[in-house]
Amino acid sequence: MSKKANSGFEEIFPRKNYIVGFPRIGEQRELKKVLELYWSGKSTFAEIEEVASTLKARHWNYQKDAGIDFIASNDFSLYDNMLDTAVLLGAIPQRFKGLEAEELYFSMARGNKDAVAMEMTKWFNTNYHYIVPELSPKDSYALNAKKILNEYKEAKALGIKTKINLIGTITFLGLSKRVDRGDTYELFGKILPVYEALLAEIAKLDDKITIQIDEPIFVKGVEPKVLSLIKPCYDALCAVSDNIKIIVTTYFEHSNEATKVLVHTPVWGLGLDFLYGEKNVESLPLIAKSGKQLITGVVDGRNIWKNDITKTASLLENIAKEVPKENIIVSSSCSLLHTPFTLKYEEKMDDEIKNWLSYAVEKLSEVSLVSKLFFNETLSAEETQALEANKKANHKRKNSTRIHNQAVQNRVSHFSKLEREGDYETRIKLQKELLSYKDLATTTIGSFPQTPEVRKARADFKKGAISKEVYEQEMKNYIDECVAFQEECGIEVLVHGEPERNDMVEYFGEQLDGYSFSQNGWVQSYGSRCVKPPFIYGDISRPKPMTVDWMTYAQSKTAKIIKGMLTGPVTILNWSFVRDDIARGDVSKQIAVALSDEVDDLQNAGIKMIQVDEAAFKEGYPLRVENIANYESWAVRDFKISVSTAKQETQIHTHMCYSEFNDIIRTIEAMDADVISIETTRSGNELLKIFKEVGYKQEVGPGVYDIHSPRIPSVEEIVAQIKLLLEVLPKEQLWINPDCGLKTRKWEEVKPSLINMVKAVEIVRKGL
Ligand code: GLN
Ligand code: ZN
Repeated sequence: MSKKANSGFEEIFPRKNYIVGFPRIGEQRELKKVLELYWSGKSTFAEIEEVASTLKARHWNYQKDAGIDFIASNDFSLYDNMLDTAVLLGAIPQRFKGLEAEELYFSMARGNKDAVAMEMTKWFNTNYHYIVPELSPKDSYALNAKKILNEYKEAKALGIKTKINLIGTITFLGLSKRVDRGDTYELFGKILPVYEALLAEIAKLDDKITIQIDEPIFVKGVEPKVLSLIKPCYDALCAVSDNIKIIVTTYFEHSNEATKVLVHTPVWGLGLDFLYGEKNVESLPLIAKSGKQLITGVVDGRNIWKNDITKTASLLENIAKEVPKENIIVSSSCSLLHTPFTLKYEEKMDDEIKNWLSYAVEKLSEVSLVSKLFFNETLSAEETQALEANKKANHKRKNSTRIHNQAVQNRVSHFSKLEREGDYETRIKLQKELLSYKDLATTTIGSFPQTPEVRKARADFKKGAISKEVYEQEMKNYIDECVAFQEECGIEVLVHGEPERNDMVEYFGEQLDGYSFSQNGWVQSYGSRCVKPPFIYGDISRPKPMTVDWMTYAQSKTAKIIKGMLTGPVTILNWSFVRDDIARGDVSKQIAVALSDEVDDLQNAGIKMIQVDEAAFKEGYPLRVENIANYESWAVRDFKISVSTAKQETQIHTHMCYSEFNDIIRTIEAMDADVISIETTRSGNELLKIFKEVGYKQEVGPGVYDIHSPRIPSVEEIVAQIKLLLEVLPKEQLWINPDCGLKTRKWEEVKPSLINMVKAVEIVRKGL
C-alpha cells in the first residue's frame, strides 16, 4: 500500500467508528407515504424530494449526534439501491428507453401501461428485495452520477463529510441477469470503465474522499472465474485517483476467498462481518500483514437485540491480538436497513422486553460506546450510565423466567418422535380409501379475499371497539359464505378462508408464549413496502389450541372435507426476528413441538386433512453451500416433528411459494408430506419435470393459474395447463389448485377463476 496516498486521512477522520448504512423509509414511514401518494396521483415529485431531503438530513444527524465518524451517503434510495446502480450505469432495459428521470425510474421499478416492471428478488438471506438489473451485450453503458454527487453535496452543506456507498462492480454483475441468458460477468469489460468514470467524478468532489464499495457477492464462496475479476477490478478502481480511499465491504457471512485477493490490491480498507461471518477471523493475519484498515463489523445490523457490550469488547480485543488497534474501526455488521428505526415510538411495549431491544438509532449509540471502550476513551457520565444499563439489561435477559422456561426446554430436548405412523405408500392407500377424493382433486391454498369488512372487524376487535361475540359472529359469517361458495362451485377439498388471520406468522405468534410484537418495528421489504416481523424472545409454547374452533366450525358447515391450515415452524422462524441466545434450529424445534400438539388436537376434533405451510422454507437457506446440510437437517426435522402426531389416515399437505425445486427436491421429499402444492404456473410444466426425473412419489398440486395478477384465467387456458401437467405426472399424483393463497385478490376475481378451474378439471377428466 502506498504510504503517500494514505497521508492526510488521519486528520480528516478520527477513524474510530463506522456505520455501513442507515435505513431510509423514515421512522414514521414518511417515504412510503409520500411515494404512495405520488403513485396514486395525489402528490408531486417535488414533494417526494422534499421528504427525502428531510429524511436524509435527519438520518445523518442521528449518526452525527451519536458520535459516528464514518456516515454514509448514497445509502438512501427512493426505491432500491440496485435500481439506482442500474440507472447510474445506464443499464436501462430496451422497453424503458425514451423515458427519463422519475418516470423512467419508477417505470423500471413498478412497470407502466406499456412495459412490465423489472424482476425483484431477495437480497441475500434477508427479507429485503432488490430490483434485478437486466443487461444485454448489445447495450452500451454510460455514467449518470447525478444522484451520488448531489447526495454528497447535500450532506456537506449540512457540515457532514460522508463516505460514499456504492454497490460494487462484481456484485452488480453477479446479481444482474442477461436478457439473452448469457453470463453477466462477460460484461465486466463494459461496466468497469463506467465505474472508473464515476470514481473520477467523485474524486473531483472534495479533498480526500472515502468510498465504501459493497461486494456482498463475495460471501457466497465465489467461483475462481469470479475471484479472478477482483484484482483487475480493484487495481483499476484504486488507480483512478490518489484522492480516493476505497473500502471493500462484505456482510452476512465470511468472505475469506476474496480477502486473500483483496489484500494484494491497493484498497484502503476491508469491511468484514464478524458476527454472521465468524470465520473472517481466519483472515486476520493476512489483513494485519497488509496494513489495511479493518472495518470491524461487531454490532449486529440485522436483529433487534441490545448489543452485549461486554461480549463485543472481548471479541474486539481478540481481533486486536492480530490486527494493530490503530488499523481497527468499529462498525455495524451490515447496513442497519434490516432493523426498524427507533424504540422511541414503542409506547405500548412491555418495559422489560423493551429493555432487551435496540433498533437502528439505538445501535448508533452502541457502536459509539463500544468504540470508546475499545479505544480507552473517557466516557461521559451519560455514557457510563448507558454502559451500566447495558450490563444490567443483558444480565436480566440471561436470567429472566419470561425467556427461560424449564418445562419447555425439558420437553423439547426429549422430544424424539420424528417419524409419523406408517410409510408413505401405506398412508396414501389408506387416505385415498377413507377420504375418497378423485384424481385431479380440486382445492385452494387456504386464504380467500380479505375484504375491507373482515379487516375492519379484526381491527375493531383488537381495539376493543367490538365484543368477542360480535367479532366471532362476523368471522363465522365469512366462513359460511366461503364454504357455501366452494360447495356451489364444486371444489372438492374446502378451506375456511383464513378471515381471522392478518398474517400467516403473526396469527400464530400472537397465540404462542415467547413471542412479542412491536408497534412501530417496520422494516423495508421492497420499494415502499414494509413488514413488521414479530419477534421471538423466549422459549416457545402453546398455552391452548390456536385454530381448532375455527376449523371445527367450518367443518360443521359441510359434509365435504375441510383442510386445516397451519404455518410451519421454519416459515414462522424465517419471518420473525429470532432470539440470538440459542441456535435457530433450537428455536425452530420448540415451535415444531407446539405445532405437533395443534395437529393432534385438530385430528382429534375431526379434521382429516391438515396443511402446514412452509412458504418461506427456501428463504432460510444459508448463503454458503457448506452450511446447507446443517440447515436442511434441522428444517426437515422440525417440519416432521410438527406433523409427527398425525395418524396414518390424517392427510398432511404443505405449500411452498416457489417454483424452482431442482436443487432441493430431495429435501422436499424428505419432509414426507402426503401432498405439496407449489407455484409453477408461470413456467408451464418445465419446472415440474424435476419431480418426474427424481421419481418423486408423493402427491403434487402445481398451481394451474397465477393469483398474483387480477386476470381471470379462461377454462381453455386452465385445461391447457392441466394437460401440460399430465405430460409430466400421472393423474393419480396430481392435485389441481391456484398457485398461492387468494387473500390479496377480490371476490370478483376469485369466483370466476375458481369456477373456471373446476370446469377445466371436469373437461380434462372426461377426456381421460
Ligand atoms: N395458507 C396461506 C394462504 O393461503 C399460504 C400463504 C402463502 O403461501 N404465502 O394465504
Ligand atoms: Zn404461496
